[in-house]
Amino acid sequence: MTNSDVWKKSLESIKGQIPNQHFNTWFKPIVVTGINETSLELEVPNRFFLEWLKDHYLSLIQEAVTKVSQREYSIVWRIGKATAPRPFTTLLPPHQPMQIAAAERVITNTQLNSNYIFENFVVGKDNQLAHAACLAVANQFSNKYNPLFVYGGVGLGKTHLLQAIGHKVIERTAGSRICYYTSEGFMNEFINAIQRNKMDEFRNKFRRADLLLIDDVQFWAVGGKERTQEEFFHTFNALYEANKQIVITSDKYPNDLGLEERLRSRFAMGLIVDIQPPDTETKMAILQKKALLESVVLPDDVTHYLASVGGSNIRELEGYLARIIAVSSLSGKEITLLMVKETLKNIIKDTKMKAITIDNIQKTVALFFNMNVADLKSKRRLQKLVLPRQMAMYLVRECCNSSFPEIGSAFGNKDHSTVIHAVNKIKTLLDKDAEQKRVINTIKTLLEKEKK
Ligand code: ADP
Ligand code: MG
Repeated sequence: MTNSDVWKKSLESIKGQIPNQHFNTWFKPIVVTGINETSLELEVPNRFFLEWLKDHYLSLIQEAVTKVSQREYSIVWRIGKATAPRPFTTLLPPHQPMQIAAAERVITNTQLNSNYIFENFVVGKDNQLAHAACLAVANQFSNKYNPLFVYGGVGLGKTHLLQAIGHKVIERTAGSRICYYTSEGFMNEFINAIQRNKMDEFRNKFRRADLLLIDDVQFWAVGGKERTQEEFFHTFNALYEANKQIVITSDKYPNDLGLEERLRSRFAMGLIVDIQPPDTETKMAILQKKALLESVVLPDDVTHYLASVGGSNIRELEGYLARIIAVSSLSGKEITLLMVKETLKNIIKDTKMKAITIDNIQKTVALFFNMNVADLKSKRRLQKLVLPRQMAMYLVRECCNSSFPEIGSAFGNKDHSTVIHAVNKIKTLLDKDAEQKRVINTIKTLLEKEKK
């Protein structure tokens, strides 16, 4: 059997084992994005989809693949597709002079998410200023707001707003070049360019932008990224002096970032706005909007319940909602408060556990093992760092109920598959190693204490 037959044959085998409707819902959308002798790479539409698939069908999939291929493949999951790239071409106003082909206008290391537009962003008092500033910049580049620096906690809408600026500028102008990069993407390409002796090409690419959008610069603050910071400093200056608009997001205020002083002071030259965690009303409005986008009506008591039990992370709220909608459409059950509580009962842990944060866990684990939080987030593979790191990821998964991608990003932007591997490894370890189990329990006790 050729490599490319493996998935096709596996699907045939799976199809015979589960109801048709389930097969259509959960297997049809899967796309093979890569395969070699040892691993099979599968792409699914979104995180919720992936978690559902893993919860319900992982062993079925693995067995099918092993059976048809007669060998062990490791399965690598990717998330993509559902947020298909926005067809930029259709957005360009017709008959404008000096149009640049749409594909050439957007320089990016990742797809823009077509849902991240201003129209889909709910404005509450906590994000009002950030929204207004981003909209102003999208409508007109401004010296006053240059750079625009947006900061706030995880899942509060920074990336959404940053990409909304990109979409709006694409729509509004015919010729502006937009450059959207994650800070990590910037660093990776920088390193690549050095290795391949292509620095000129790298520099030109960024310096041709009319609008530079850089997401999550806190990433550069951790562990030995000084050269990336320096390179960005020069990129920044070149664009700034040419009066090009720059927008930056971060999870912290510039002064608290721990970046080089000269970069920090550049970031503070324009306008700095924050996004605060949403209050219950904003959360309710966001839930209603998201439900509407899915053509689902949420009863008020359900909206209120979700807004009050969920934390401040909006991505998490979206996850709850997606799950409720999926369960309702698969089972035909109406969405009621009872149904929602039942559906989420294993997901929304008791509020006591919820008060433990990723930050707490990282600090406590680092302290326990006598190391730095930076080491936990680093990519160094020394055994004495790897085990604590994996334990910390495991604890976050268990105590904060965070998704794998969220955990990955909180640990120095690691891939979600790394997190899944870590969590599984620790689970297995705890089953057979009493000593390690004691370690985990001690850390949990410390975490509980810290809360009080
Ligand atoms: P951050 O980059 O700050 O971690 P994101 O921009 O990725 O957060 O937002 C997380 C999710 O929450 C996204 O799916 C985004 O669309 C949604 N979201 C956040 N804030 C809002 C809002 N005010 N209105 C609608 N959706 C929001
Ligand atoms: Mg983000």
